[in-house]
Amino acid sequence: MTGNFIPLSVPNLKGNELEYVANAIKTEWVSTGGPYVDGFERKIAEYTGAKGAVSCQNGTAGLHIALILTGVTPADEVIVPTLTFIAAVNPVKYIGAEPVFMDCDDSLCLDPVKLRQFCEEECNFTDGKLFDKANGRQIKAVVAVHVFGNMADMEAITDIALKYNLKIVEDATEAIGTYYTDGKFKGKFAGTIGDIGVYSFNGNKIITTGGGGMIVSNNAEYLKKAKHLTTQAKSDGLYYTHDDIGYNYRMTNLQAALGVAQLEQLEDFIKIKENNYNEYKRRFDRIDGLKLLNFRKNIRSNRWFYALLCDGYKLSRDSLIKYLSAHNIQSRPLWGLISDQKPYAGARTYKIERAKYFGKNIVNIPCSTNLTLDGIETVVNAIENS
Ligand SMILES: *Cc1c(COP(=O)(O)O)cnc(C)c1O
Repeated sequence: MTGNFIPLSVPNLKGNELEYVANAIKTEWVSTGGPYVDGFERKIAEYTGAKGAVSCQNGTAGLHIALILTGVTPADEVIVPTLTFIAAVNPVKYIGAEPVFMDCDDSLCLDPVKLRQFCEEECNFTDGKLFDKANGRQIKAVVAVHVFGNMADMEAITDIALKYNLKIVEDATEAIGTYYTDGKFKGKFAGTIGDIGVYSFNGNKIITTGGGGMIVSNNAEYLKKAKHLTTQAKSDGLYYTHDDIGYNYRMTNLQAALGVAQLEQLEDFIKIKENNYNEYKRRFDRIDGLKLLNFRKNIRSNRWFYALLCDGYKLSRDSLIKYLSAHNIQSRPLWGLISDQKPYAGARTYKIERAKYFGKNIVNIPCSTNLTLDGIETVVNAIENS
C-alpha cells in the first residue's frame, strides 16, 4: 500500500503508552500480576461509574464469563442479536446453550418491540421462568450489543427483562464512553445498566491494549466470581486448591499499561470521532442515495464506527467498497448476519427483517482517531467522483 492509504480503524498510540509499557518492563511486572492491571480496573470502574471491573484477555473471554455468571446452562436458550460481530454469540455455544436470534431496530441494535413480542407470543412465563414454547427450553438471559458505539434501547430492554426475569449481558465492546444524557438512565454508561457489561480493547476499538477486555458490574457477587473464574478458580494460592472449573483469562500488566495510557485519551478520542462524524455528515448530506446513520438522540455516543447507508446510490454497496479499495481507501460491508453463518445453520430465529436490509446496504467508512480533515476530504471526493 502507498503512503496515503486510509485505513478503516487503527490504533492511536501517541500518549503515555511507551512510558507505561517501558515501566512495566523495567520493573519486570509483565504477566497477570502488577500495578497496571489493578489500576486499569479501578480507572475503568471510576470512568464508567460501575461498582467494579475485572480485566480479561479480550472481550470474547469477558462475554464468556459474563454469560456463565448469569447462570445459563446447556439446557437453556439465550436471546442474541443476529446483527453483530460473532463473538457476541459464540459464548452461548461455549456453554453448550442455544441462541435465539433477534432482529435489530433502526439503531442497528436489538429490537425491543420484537423482543417483547417474542416473549409474549412465543414463550410461556410460569413460576418466574420464561420457556420457549417451541422446544421447552428456559430462556435465562439476553445479550444486548451496543452496535458501533450506539446505545441499544436499554429503557425498553430492561423493562422486558424485569417482566420476564431475564438477565442482561451488555456487549459494550464497541461502546466504552457512550452514556445516556437524558431519561431514566441519564448519566449511565453503556455496560453499566444491565446485570453485567463487557468492554473490548482489541486493536480496532476506540481504545486498545493490543487485545484485552473488561467485565463491569454493580453486583459485588458477580465481580468476585468473575475475578475467581478468570484466574483459574484458585481458592488457595499456596496449596493450589480449586473449587470450580476456571479459566486463564486475566489481562497482563503489559496490556494494562497500554490500557491506562489509552484511557487517559479516551475523551479526546471521542471528541475527534464526533468532529469527524459531523464533517462526514455535512458532506454526505449533499450526495443522493447515501446517508450517514444517526446515533440515538438521548445519548452521548463514543461514535466508534460510522455506518453509511447505501440505498438508491448510483453504485451498489459492494461496487462502492471495491471502488474505494482501488483508491486506497479501506471500507467494509456490515457483518454477515450471525444466523446465516455456517455454525448457526438451523438455529432459532425470530422475524429477522431489518437486519437483512441493513446487512445488504451498509458500508463502514474510515473512522480512526488519526483521521484528518484532509483524509475525510479524500474519502468524500473519491466517492463524489465515483
Ligand atoms: C470486538 C467485539 C467483540 C469481541 O472483542 P474481542 O476483544 O475482539 O474479543 C465482541 N462483540 C462485538 C460486538 C465486538 O465488536
